[in-house]
Amino acid sequence: MTFHHPQEDILMSYTAGALGESWSLAVASHMTFCPECRSSVALVEELGGFLLEEHDPVPLSELALTVAQEQLDLQAVEQVAINSAVVSSIPVPLRDYIGDTVDEVKWQSIGGGVYQHLISTQDGDQARLLQIPAGKSVPEHGHGGRELTLVLSGSFSDENGEFVAGDIEDVSEEVTHQPLAGTGDNCICLVVTDSALKFKGLIPRFVQPFISI
Ligand SMILES: [Zn+2]
Repeated sequence: MTFHHPQEDILMSYTAGALGESWSLAVASHMTFCPECRSSVALVEELGGFLLEEHDPVPLSELALTVAQEQLDLQAVEQVAINSAVVSSIPVPLRDYIGDTVDEVKWQSIGGGVYQHLISTQDGDQARLLQIPAGKSVPEHGHGGRELTLVLSGSFSDENGEFVAGDIEDVSEEVTHQPLAGTGDNCICLVVTDSALKFKGLIPRFVQPFISI
């Protein structure tokens, strides 16, 4: 059961194909966990089809085919999600970027027991995996822009609540937070930012240029 979702504007942009690669990756990965967002996106896509139909003489059969194809695709995603739950905690959209399991990921230490892995995307924004040891926190930081954090395994909590596998935290520029990983498993997240994070402590700020976080 997923309780934390991306905000509506992100879902709308995703549906319109207007989101950058890093952000789409986070949303598509969240959707493999979240039936609620899958149906919202499917609904908006269908609605878009009907609106198009009013203004453009595209044959109805063609639109119906598109909608039917999208529904098939969605079912395929659901099926893969169910099958993959058994063998891997990595959502299918993310596997092309990092491999099938976290064991294949090349981690880079960023201090305090926290590891990151930068993901190469074309949109100029930053996507990375973060691994926070169970019970530990990442340094308190604010944002130069928006930040999406999708939990892949383990959990974390901050001022906005508790986030478990499949949950997405969508925070804006104004928020300063210090996520704390739950006790149990290490917390592994996909984090997308549209600007460098702003750490409050002196030491993280000093190492920041070297670790490109
Ligand atoms: Zn959702």
